[in-house]
Amino acid sequence: SEYPFEKHADLPPPTALKKRYDVVIIGGGGHGVATAYYLAKYHGITNVAILEKGYLGGGNTARNTAVIRSNYLTSEGVRFYSESVKLFRDLSNEFDFNIMYSRRGQLTLAHTDSAIRAFRQRAEVNKHFGGKTELIDPQQIRELVPTLNMYPGQQPVLAGLWHMDGATARHDAVAWGYAKGATQRGVELHQLTEVTDVLVRDEKVWGVKVRQGSAEHVIECGIAVQAVAGHSSLLAAKAGFRLPIVTYPLQAMVTQPVKPFLDPLVSSPAFHCYVQQTGRGELVFGGGSDPYPLYNTRSTMELKEELLAHAVELFPFVANLKLMRQWAGLTDMTSDYSPIMGLSPVENYYLDAGWGTWGFKSTPICGKTMAELVATGKVPDLIKPFGVERFSEFRQVNEMGATAASH
Ligand code: FAD
Repeated sequence: SEYPFEKHADLPPPTALKKRYDVVIIGGGGHGVATAYYLAKYHGITNVAILEKGYLGGGNTARNTAVIRSNYLTSEGVRFYSESVKLFRDLSNEFDFNIMYSRRGQLTLAHTDSAIRAFRQRAEVNKHFGGKTELIDPQQIRELVPTLNMYPGQQPVLAGLWHMDGATARHDAVAWGYAKGATQRGVELHQLTEVTDVLVRDEKVWGVKVRQGSAEHVIECGIAVQAVAGHSSLLAAKAGFRLPIVTYPLQAMVTQPVKPFLDPLVSSPAFHCYVQQTGRGELVFGGGSDPYPLYNTRSTMELKEELLAHAVELFPFVANLKLMRQWAGLTDMTSDYSPIMGLSPVENYYLDAGWGTWGFKSTPICGKTMAELVATGKVPDLIKPFGVERFSEFRQVNEMGATAASH
C-alpha cells in the first residue's frame, strides 16, 4: 500500500473521507487529538474528523522539549496551566498507555536582584493557586544540582525559583494516547490530508477543502476548530481574518546519553538556556526562538554555537559530550506570550492558536476546554482571558517574564 501509517497498532486503518462531519478539527497534533478525545469522551460527539497534513503528532508535538510546568506570572496563566499539570498526572492511567510522565521539579536561576524580585512574585502567585513553588537560596540549589556551576559567565547564581510540579512526558506518546482514545470512540483521524481552504458563507464556516495526494475534496462541517500551531495565521487567512501572530523557528538539540546526574529541569533566563536529562540519559538543550520571523525548520550553526556556549557555562563538563541531533519547529508568537483561544470572527470557527514555545504543557487542558466550547458554544471561564479580542481591547495577559527561556 502507498499509505505509510496503516500498521499503527493502536489506530484503526484509514477510511475514505465522508461528505460531512459535525466537527472538523484541523491539525493532528496533541491539541487537535486531545480536543477530539474530550469531545467524544465527555460530550458524546463522535461524528468528528481530525485532518492532518503530515502524520499524527509530527509537528511541534514531536519537536518540543517536553517541559511541563505551571509557574507562570499572571493569575490567568497559573490557573490555566495548573489544570493542565493536574490532567497530565493521570493520563497514563486514563489512556492505559504509558506517557512516561516524570515529575522531577523545575529550577529557574536568578542571577540579578531584579530576577529575585520577579521570582518572589511568581512563587506567591503560584502558591495562591495551590502550586508548589518556592524561592530557594544558593545552598539549597547546590544540594539539588551539585553539578551546577554557581558562577557561570561571571554572573553568580543568587537564588532559584524551585517549582516542584515541574515535569516531563514522552511528547509523541501524549498524541498517540489521545488519538487512540478518540478513534476507539469513533472519531476519524485522516493523516496526509491537508486543509487547503476554509469555506465561509455569510461569515459562518460551512466546510473545508482538502488535498489527499493529488485528489481534492470538499467536506462540509457544522463546526471547525483550527489547531495548527506554527501555521495559525496562514490558516486564519484562508478563513478570511488576520491573527496578531509572528512566526519564528525554535531550535533544540540533544547529546549522546550519559549516566544519570541531573534530575530537575534547570533553566537560566539570563543565559537563555535550559538543560534537562532525559530518562535515556541524553541532555536536551533549549533556548529562545530564532531572532527573525521565518517559515523554515532548518537548524543553524549560530544557534548551536550560542546555546552550547551557555550550556557549557552552566555545566562545564558537557563540553566533552557529542551532540546527536539538532532540529527546529515553527512557533507562533503573540506579543504577550499567551495563547489565542476561543471564538474567531467567523461563526462556528474556533481558535486554538498562538502556542509559541509553550504549548506542549497545555495539551490536556486545551483539549478539554476546546471540546467544551465546541459542545456548548460557550467559552469556558478558564480560557476567556485568551480571546483574540484582548488585543483590540488592551487586555493582554503578559507572560513574557515567565515564559522566555523556560518554555
Ligand atoms: P502541532 O503538533 O504542531 O500540531 C499542529 C498540526 O497541524 C501539525 O501536525 C501540522 O502538520 C498540522 N497542520 C498545519 N497546517 C495544516 C493544514 N493546513 N491542514 C492540516 N493540517 C495542518 N512547549 C512546552 O510546553 N514545553 C516545551 O518544553 C516546549 N519546547 C519546545 C521546543 C521546540 C524546539 C519547539 C519547536 C516547541 C516547543 N514547545 C514547548 C511548544 C510546543 O511544541 C507547541 O506549542 C505545541 O506542540 C503545539 O501543539 P499543537 O498540537 O497545536 O501543535
